[in-house]
This record gives sequence, structure tokens and C-alpha cells, in this order.
Amino acid sequence: MSRPPAARGGRRVDLHSHTIFSDGALPPEAVVALAVARGLAALAITDHDSVEGVARAREAAGSALELVAGIEVSSMLDGLDLHILGYYLDPADAELLETLAGFRTERLDRALRMIERLAALGVPVDRDLVLALAGPGVVGRPHVAEALLRAGHIETMDDAFRHFIGAHAPAFVPRPAFRPEQAIALIHAAGGVSVLAHPGAGLSESVVERLAAARLDGIEVWHPQHGMASVRRYHALAAKLGLLETGGSDFHGPGRGMDLGELPVPASVLGPLKQAAGVPG
Ligand code: AMP
Ligand code: FE
Ligand code: FE
Ligand code: ZN
Repeated sequence: MSRPPAARGGRRVDLHSHTIFSDGALPPEAVVALAVARGLAALAITDHDSVEGVARAREAAGSALELVAGIEVSSMLDGLDLHILGYYLDPADAELLETLAGFRTERLDRALRMIERLAALGVPVDRDLVLALAGPGVVGRPHVAEALLRAGHIETMDDAFRHFIGAHAPAFVPRPAFRPEQAIALIHAAGGVSVLAHPGAGLSESVVERLAAARLDGIEVWHPQHGMASVRRYHALAAKLGLLETGGSDFHGPGRGMDLGELPVPASVLGPLKQAAGVPG
């Protein structure tokens, strides 16, 4: 049975969520409050290239639910944008924090260069607005897209990527290469378990095999981007390659994509994940 049956009861977990420390709309405390209200057994905070929300989320969670320390590290492989989730890592790990601080500087520099290119293309956005939209978090293309939207240059977020900041669009500036193998190693060095995020319908099996050879631990099987066919495919591939299975809503805030806890991810995925991380319980 590849899809976890919501009707069978059992408690749910949500192992993919974002806060204001990346491109989420809510502070960590508010995401935790929603998870508690929805009766989730566990919640992972997985901000893009940041673990800054984890301590606040843990404090807010207390004993109301299990808070899993997480991250979603961006990486590139042959032009493919691959996101690697990390679970049960140490959010205070010095090497991790140093690498993430470097990403933050690179990302700021890159956002400023994209803003310059947009101005040259005749669609200027306010630099201070982009930075304000990023808030305390890492700045990324979603914030630039939002600024384009607010300036009235485009009508949808998708237009921003299609016409301006998508990988093949004129104002796009790539990030310095960080490979998925490096992301996996970074997560392992911080004591975490690595999971390929939302591989999607189009990813070839050979890419997953290559990452498995680089000690990838798991695949995100349940994700809003995955239809039934993808869920079945990655469930089977996880079994074949001996990888763990995880899932989550990829929550970014109310009204922004799927709601927290809405995806039926069974609590039974947690045990093997913990075991792989060497976490008791
Ligand atoms: P960055 O890490 O700054 O390169 O931004 C990548 C993020 O932009 C992804 O994680 C998505 O959240 C978002 N993104 C990428 N492509 C699109 C798109 N076509 N429409 C909306 N959001 C997108
Ligand atoms: Fe995001
Ligand atoms: Fe992602
Ligand atoms: Zn995400």
C-alpha cells in the first residue's frame, strides 16, 4: 500500500514546513500552534538553508508535540535544482552554521545582482522591499518575485519566473554551485539524516541512484507535487534502494499552497528516521 490511508486513523506527522526564517509567512511559534491545533504527532521545521527557526519552534512545542530539527538545503546537479532535507541535525553545529552564514552572504549578493538586472530590463523593484520581504530569513527568488508582483510588473508569481528570474530568464543569476553530495555530507556532519525533497514526476531513477551512492538516506515520497503515480513510484524506489520514506505539506503559510498537516503522512515514518539518526525513542 503506497498511499497512507487517512481513514485508517492513526496520527499524522508533517515533516516539511517553512517559517519567516526562509520564505514562509509565519513565525515558528505560529507554525507550531497550527500543528498542535491539528493534532499532529510530530512537526519538522525545514527552512531553506536555515536552522534559525528550530530553537524557537522547540521552545514553543514543549511537550505538545515532537519537534524535529530540520533544514532544506538547496543544491544543483547538472542544471537540476535539487533540495535535500536534513532531519535530527544539531542546529547549533558550528560547521553547519558557518556554511549557512556563507550561503546567506552569497544569496544577498545574488539578490542584489538580480535587482540590478531587473532595473536594466525596465522592471525595477525596490531593494529595501525585497530585503523587508525576506525578513529575518535568507533572501531568495520568491522574495524578488513578490516585489515584482507588488510593483505591478507581473500578475502572478509564475510570470516572475517565466519572464524574469527563472533559470532561463534574463534577470536570473545562478548561485555558486553547491552539489547534492555536499548537502548530504553537510547534513551528516551535523548529525542529521538526509532525504531528497519532492523529486517530482520527471526525475530519472539514475539521479536517485547516484545520490544513494553518495549516502543519501531517504526520499520524500509524500508531497503536494506528487500525484498517486509519483507516490507509488518513489515508494517502490525507496524499497528497492533501501531508502527511508518521509513526507510533508511543504507548508509556507495559510493560503499559500497546501495547508499544514493536510497531507496524510503516517506517524510510522518517524521510527526508522530516528533510528537512522541514532536518536532514542
Ligand atoms: P532560490 O533558492 O532563491 O533560487 O529560489 C528557489 C525557490 O523559488 C524555490 O524553492 C521555489 O520555492 C521558488 N520557485 C522556483 N520556481 C518557481 C515558479 N515557477 N513559480 C513559483 N515559485 C518558484
Ligand atoms: Fe520555499
Ligand atoms: Fe523544496
Ligand atoms: Zn520546502
